[in-house]
Order: sequence, then structure tokens, then C-alpha cells
Amino acid sequence: AKGAAMVTAVAYRLTEQARQIQQTMAEFRLSKAQLLEVKKRMRVEIERGLKKSSHEEATVKMLPTFVRRTPDGTENGDFLALDLGGTNFRVLLVKIRSGKKRSVEMHNKIYAIPIEVMQGTGEELFDHIVHCISDFLDYMGMKSARLPLGFTFSFPCHQTSLDAGILVTWTKGFKATDCEGEDVVELLRDAIKRKEMENPEFELDVVAIVNDTVGTMMTCAYEEPNCEVGLIAGTGSNACYMEEAKNIELVEGSEGRMCVNMEWGAFGDNGCLDDIRTKYDQAVDENSLNEGKQRYEKMCSGMYLGEIVRQILIDLTRRGFLFRGQISETLKTRGIFETKFLSQIESDRLALLQVRAILQQLGLDSTCDDSIIVKEVCGTVSRRAAQICGAGMAAVVDKIRENRGMDHLDITVGVDGTLYKLHPHFSLIFHQTVKELAPKCDVNFLLSEDGSGKGAALITAVGCRQRELDAQ
Ligand code: BGC
Ligand code: MG
Repeated sequence: AKGAAMVTAVAYRLTEQARQIQQTMAEFRLSKAQLLEVKKRMRVEIERGLKKSSHEEATVKMLPTFVRRTPDGTENGDFLALDLGGTNFRVLLVKIRSGKKRSVEMHNKIYAIPIEVMQGTGEELFDHIVHCISDFLDYMGMKSARLPLGFTFSFPCHQTSLDAGILVTWTKGFKATDCEGEDVVELLRDAIKRKEMENPEFELDVVAIVNDTVGTMMTCAYEEPNCEVGLIAGTGSNACYMEEAKNIELVEGSEGRMCVNMEWGAFGDNGCLDDIRTKYDQAVDENSLNEGKQRYEKMCSGMYLGEIVRQILIDLTRRGFLFRGQISETLKTRGIFETKFLSQIESDRLALLQVRAILQQLGLDSTCDDSIIVKEVCGTVSRRAAQICGAGMAAVVDKIRENRGMDHLDITVGVDGTLYKLHPHFSLIFHQTVKELAPKCDVNFLLSEDGSGKGAALITAVGCRQRELDAQ
């Protein structure tokens, strides 16, 4: 009888534990009504960002990009491009040929940016960038080519033209000093001038500054003219789309359209998502380089999903539900769960034993039960990410549909980003959510091949042509 009582007690503890874990996860499971609410609030913030009277305090900035049309195939020339702010820093040479046999040829090299440089002084950061360009030109054997350059800079910038952009704030892992509030094109040109003093042959012409979302949209639009939205679901999260010029009150003129860099990562910074943010989201925010900022991004992008998971695991361990109640040094380490690990853990093809092997690789000793719980936590966090990202996108496509006074809209979204590309379920859940929340839109998603580089070159081509016209 005593034995039976003990078995019952253990079973009770297990079910009570399961119940408490489920209760914790329940906060992350959003209903359709909640997602529709997220969509609605995104729409409100979109309007605030666009209107002159509310732009100043708006959190979703809706920044004009001075890109007034998608490519038409007449773009031509050789260009350099930089891609800064994603998973890798790259320098590229892009050769675009127009005409019947239009083509794009690209060469690129990835460079490391040490964390001391990302978070050092602005001068060091831009000197490092220029050093990498110079290395790339050597590597390509084209020392003295004076090529027009497009700068994909994946941070919020207040643009006043194609080649001027004042950095609003750093995001993600960057925090170099003396850059916020400055025109980053000027910072780059200054660094180029410093290099020219050493080596007079070194000359570069910065023609355009480009957000990665815009580069992605342009790249996809080159193949598919129906593409008028760009999305990044990667290290960070953001979208852009072609808005009616008359709705962009920050820019003179009401003819045609202009691409708007939404900077939707900052959605929620005014508290409007507080009812769905959990204490784990708050902990991630408090531990970040930019507390209080980019709250939506911190719920749905690659740089932070692993951190949310880690916060939940720490809490479950503390409550004695995981890892035998032992919080290891590993679990206390920021950034251990990179997108690639989450993607592996959540892969359906993986047996639990393999999940345990991954956790082991990360330095986490798990039981079989632990691995089941970890996998569920990962799945719940990434599902919510895909859903709220989908709710944001539903707001965008419905806005475009309404802009055009249509009952039904067919549109293509160009997409890039490690989370979207690597994660086994993110894209599917994201697509389903957009479909469910914007039923009047048929949205087609197109993966961008090397969006940042190609897109920057396409925009630079347009910029060069505009310059020639202006000069006539
Ligand atoms: C930046 C955006 C960028 C996005 C994706 C965000 O942190 O603010 O400008 O588009 O990350 O890279
Ligand atoms: Mg990128």
C-alpha cells in the first residue's frame, strides 16, 4: 500500500509539473482574436508614422526611401555593394546587363566584424568597412576602378534623398559611438577620404543608401513585377512596401508611389503590445543592448528567439521542472541558442536522442524528459514569432489593397532572412497566418536570392541614371 501511495505521489507531481509547464506556455499561444488585434494595432501605428502631425512620436517610423519604382530591366552597369547589419558583413561586385539577355553577375566576400568594432567608435567601424572594401578590390584585381557604390545598411535611417541617411538608432548587436543622429553616407565618405590620404588611387562614389528590406523587394521585383513588398525575418525583423506618395506626408509631392521602410521592429515601443508581452519578453529586453526599443522585433526575430527560450528554460529550471533544477553556466550564457540551433531542435526529422545531442553540444546535460520540454518551448516561441510577424504582414497587404480601392489584391512579397530560410516551420506558419488574417489578399512569397547586394546595385543603377538626367 505504501508503494502504491508513492507511485501516486510521483504521478501527481508529474501531472502537476506538466500542468504548470503548460500554464507557462499558454501565455505564448495567441488566439485568432489576439492576432487580429495585433494586426489592427499595426495599422494604427502605420497611420501614425505616415502623418506629419504624429510622426515625431510615432514608434513605427514609416521612413521614406526615395525609391520611386521597382526595376524595369533597363538597369545597367557595374556596381559595388556593401551589406552591413545582417548575419554577415559582405562586400560585393554586381554586374547588371540590360536588354534582351538581361543578367546579373555577382562576386562577393564575407568579412568578420569583431564585436569590439561593432560596439567601438564609429570611426573604427567605418575604417574597418573601408579596409574590407579595399581588400575586396585587391582580391578582385581591380584596384583603381572608380565604381558607384550602393550601401545596404540594415538600420533605421531618416533619408532626405537616395544618398543621405541619418541613423535614427542602432539595433540588433550594433552600438558604435558617434553614429546615431549622423548621416552614415557622410561617415562612410569620411572614412573613404581617410583611406585616400594613404592611397590616392582609392576612390569610391557612394550613390545610395538602402535598407535590406528595400534591397530584397527590388531584387524580387526584378524577376516578378508584382512584388511591391519586402520582408526580412532574420537577425532582425522589418518590412517595406510601395506606398502612395500622397500618403507619405514627410515628402513633398503626391504623384505616384514611394517605397517606405516601415521599421516595424519598433512596433510596441509605446506599450501597445504590453498585454501580449510576457515576463520572459521583458527579461530579454532588459538584457539587451537597447532596452525598451524594438519590442516587436524582440518577439519575432532570430537574434532574440533563442534568448526568449533561454529565459523560459532558466525559469523552468529554477522551479525544478528541468535539468534536475541545476542552472548551469551555459544556461546563463547570452546568445547560446542561435537560429541554427533552434532550427535543428525543432526539425521533425530529429529523434529526441539527437535533440539531446544538440543540447549536449551546447553544454546542457539533459534527460529524455528535458529534451521533450525544450523542444516544446522552442516550438511555442517560434510559432508565436511567425504568427505575430504574419499579423504585421496582414496589416500591410490590407493597407495596400485599401490604398488601391480593391476588393481583392494579388501581390508578391520578396523575403529574405535566416529565420525564414533556415527554420523548419517559421515560413509555413507565417504564410498561414497572413492568409487567415488577410483573406481578401492573395499573397505570394518569393525568396530573394542575395537580396541585399543585388537590390542595392539595382537602386544604385537608378540613382546613377537620375544623376545623369539631373546634370543635363
Ligand atoms: C533594423 C531594420 C532592418 C531589420 C532587418 C532591424 O533591426 O532596424 O532596419 O531592416 O533589422 O535586418
Ligand atoms: Mg541580410
